[in-house]
Amino acid sequence: MIVVGLTGGIGSGKSTITKIWEDLGATVIKADDLAKQLMVSDTVLIQSIKATFGSGAYLENGELNKPFLAKEAFENGRVDELNKLVHPAVYRWFQEQKQLEEQKGTRVLVREAALLLDKGRPNDFDVIVVVSADDDVRVKRVVNRDRMDEKEIQARMSKQLSQNKMRELADIVIENNGDLTKLESTAKHVFQELLKWPR
Ligand code: ATP
Repeated sequence: MIVVGLTGGIGSGKSTITKIWEDLGATVIKADDLAKQLMVSDTVLIQSIKATFGSGAYLENGELNKPFLAKEAFENGRVDELNKLVHPAVYRWFQEQKQLEEQKGTRVLVREAALLLDKGRPNDFDVIVVVSADDDVRVKRVVNRDRMDEKEIQARMSKQLSQNKMRELADIVIENNGDLTKLESTAKHVFQELLKWPR
C-alpha cells in the first residue's frame, strides 16, 4: 500500500481529485475534521483533555464545551498544551487506519488535508501530491461553489501556506488551471504513477 498526502490551497481541487481517485479504488481520509471528531470519540484523548483542562471541557451529553476550550486555548494561551494532546491522538488514529487498510488490501490510501505542510514535510507519507491553481481561478471557483464573498476567500488564502512553498515540498504537482476534463485525465494519470511508486 502507498500512503499519499494530498494538499493544496482553498479551492485548488483537492476534493475533486479525491472523488476521481476513490472511483479508481483509493481510500480517502479527510483530515481536517479529524481532530474535532477524535476530541469527542477517542476515550484516551477525552480523558487527557479532562485531566489537563478540567471536566468543564465537556458538556454533560459528551459534546465538547467549545466556548470553554476556546477561552482556555486562545485567551489563556494554552493552544500548545491542547495541540500536544490532540496531535498524538491524530497520529495514533492514522497509524491504526493504515494497518486496517493494509489488511483490507487497499493499494492507495490518501489523506486529504489543507494543513499538511505547514510544519514542513511530514514523515508519515510515501508521496506528497500538491494541487495548484492560480489565485484568481480559485477565487472564482469558490465563489461559484460556496457563494462566498471574494474578499473573505482572499483573506483565507492569505493565511494559508503559499502555493510556491507547497510546490517546493511536493513530489507531484497537479496543475488545475484547465477544465474538469483536463483535471480528470491528469488525476487518472497521476493515480497510475502512484500505483507504480517505489515504497
Ligand atoms: P477547499 O480547500 O475549499 O475545500 P478543494 O481544494 O477541495 O477546496 P474543490 O472543492 O475540489 O477544491 O474545488 C473547488 C470548486 O472548483 C468545486 O466546485 C469544483 O467542482 C470546482 N473545480 C475544481 N477543479 C475544476 C476545474 N478544473 N474546472 C472547473 N471547476 C473546477
